Amino acid sequence: MTSAPFSLELEDALSLEAVGPIPVNEPKLDGNERAYLIDCIDTGWISSEGPYVERFEAAMAERVNRRHGIGVANGSAALDIAVAALRLSPGDEVILPSFTIISCAAAVVRSGANPVVVDCDPTTLNSTTDHYADAITPRTKALMVVHIYGLPVDMDPILTLAEKHGLAVIEDAAEMHGQTYKGRPCGSFGTLSTFSFYPNKLVTAGEGGMVMTDDAELASRCRSLRNLCFNSKQRFVHDELGWNYRLTNMQAALGLAQVEKLDETVARKRAIGATYTDLLSSISGVQLPLTRTDYAEGLYWVYSLILDDSLEMDAKAAMAALAEHKIGTRPFFWPMHLQPVFQKMNLFKGVSCPVAERIAKRGFYVPSGVGITEVQMRRVAAVIQKVLR
Ligand SMILES: *Cc1c(COP(=O)(O)O)cnc(C)c1O
Repeated sequence: MTSAPFSLELEDALSLEAVGPIPVNEPKLDGNERAYLIDCIDTGWISSEGPYVERFEAAMAERVNRRHGIGVANGSAALDIAVAALRLSPGDEVILPSFTIISCAAAVVRSGANPVVVDCDPTTLNSTTDHYADAITPRTKALMVVHIYGLPVDMDPILTLAEKHGLAVIEDAAEMHGQTYKGRPCGSFGTLSTFSFYPNKLVTAGEGGMVMTDDAELASRCRSLRNLCFNSKQRFVHDELGWNYRLTNMQAALGLAQVEKLDETVARKRAIGATYTDLLSSISGVQLPLTRTDYAEGLYWVYSLILDDSLEMDAKAAMAALAEHKIGTRPFFWPMHLQPVFQKMNLFKGVSCPVAERIAKRGFYVPSGVGITEVQMRRVAAVIQKVLR
């Protein structure tokens, strides 16, 4: 593959007519998905009571080296349950990145505890031990660690920090199926970890999520929270409030088929990342994802671009230009401390996270789902080159 400028001839071959519109994500459902879903219909097992739920939970637990997996309705539900499982009290603080999805902070707010947000590193986009350490107070009860876009957080020093201060750790591994940190699976760290199975994740169930833990008591509490906290002795009597966050047999059937081919998906994602890096590395003014750190290889859950401050164009303008060429993109996360909903709640007053604020305006990601083809990537790269020239 060449990173030389595209010739006129090649541009023709990569025209919109030749390639067609390119959506930001297309899933690949070419394994046992169909057979397992038909099995759900043939057996009549469609609800959360069906056998695929436990099979999917067991497959994920084995994959990430955890004793327990609790399948739930989505990744946001998994976070709600993981935080609720910690039994936090008003005034307790949970430290988490500002640069993440709202589900993380929402789970903390809904638990009644106080979210404390921190900035992130400009190259890995992850919050680091120093960020967490600086935010610890006597009221801190937990650290929520979120791996962003492709590279895992440097976990070991954070786990040491948590141990030193007696803090729980929730690991949000929603973007990290199949990723490892120093050879250990993401999703295996901390008190509880969570996954999402949204269609753009490396394992999808259409919608779905999972809470993972090694602690049997926490696992049973998570199961109860997922199922409205029905009292095991007297049904329809409740000592606590839970949710109906159950996962259906059909979602689990899809998810199981996806876990079976996770290695293939990881390899494909890394190949997509390498191809984009090859095609885009000659373009100046754009920060591409790090290919590796000393503890992990990039996974490229999404292929992210950050425009240098020297470019006049910001992410919004670049995304609009790509949309004109029928190329789907998504903006970066919008930092939690800038969210109108939290400002109305008087949260995060006076907080500043300059890195998160900058990348939120300068960053976006390009089509990088497992279904993307070589020629689609070439067209995306060619259009980016044209747009940024
Ligand atoms: C996708 C995602 C979630 C939320 O998952 P849903 O299934 O969409 O609710 C949570 N955290 C992170 C980091 C994610 O990327």
